[in-house]
Amino acid sequence: MVEQQGRRLGIMGGTFDPIHYGHLVTAEAARDCFALDEVVFVPSGRPPHKSRSQPCSPEHRAMMTLLAIITNPHFSLSRIEVDREGYSYAIDTIRSFAEQYGPDTEIFFITGADAILEIAGWYQADELFQLASFIAATRPGFDLQGLNRLPEAWRQRIHSFDVPALAISSTDIRRRVAQGVSIRYLLPETVENYIIKEGLYVRQ
Ligand code: NAP
Repeated sequence: MVEQQGRRLGIMGGTFDPIHYGHLVTAEAARDCFALDEVVFVPSGRPPHKSRSQPCSPEHRAMMTLLAIITNPHFSLSRIEVDREGYSYAIDTIRSFAEQYGPDTEIFFITGADAILEIAGWYQADELFQLASFIAATRPGFDLQGLNRLPEAWRQRIHSFDVPALAISSTDIRRRVAQGVSIRYLLPETVENYIIKEGLYVRQ
């Protein structure tokens, strides 16, 4: 358990296409382990690193995220990236939360370790590390050797975090829907019902 000093905010960044129990377990475990006061889920709007548009619109992804988190009083949804024009850069999001919450709040950006391994290529990466620490959630057996390529000062601000529930993946869920295979118990029932009602992921 990390010692508590001031307010601690988790920003859960991801595409969430769709959100699933792996993401929810990650956020809850990070909250517990890093003594976060709250976790704000930020579905990405237009990811700069993905040439193809996402299978689902930002609106659908934000709605599924809201349905998934609504029963947890420590979780909330931010539409900051969904509503922002242009590409979704983490630096803009983190800067905006830093301004909103003020200097007494410590920010932890939580996301998948695969994404963190690419962080050197993120827009204004140096400033990212001045504003936030990073929690890199790993799937079982994930190889973190790539982190050694990052500067030491950055590595000190990256906490890796093994989440067995991340064996669940959005890609697998989309494939299952397209193939007519059950997705039950991989994500909240409310999200499953939304996917069925809106006919999402039927075509890959
Ligand atoms: P991604 O490449 O789609 O995902 C990488 C891996 O991490 C996938 O295995 C994914 O699993 C998992 N993952 C994604 N978000 C997660 C989360 N919050 N918790 C646990 N696992 C997670 O990555 P992405 O979702 O597009 O991007 C992740 C975050 O990094 C977003 O907030 C994005 O805006 C940010 N990012 C910023 C920049 C930039 O500022 N230039 C560049 C790249 C990424 P699932 O597929 O199952 O989710």
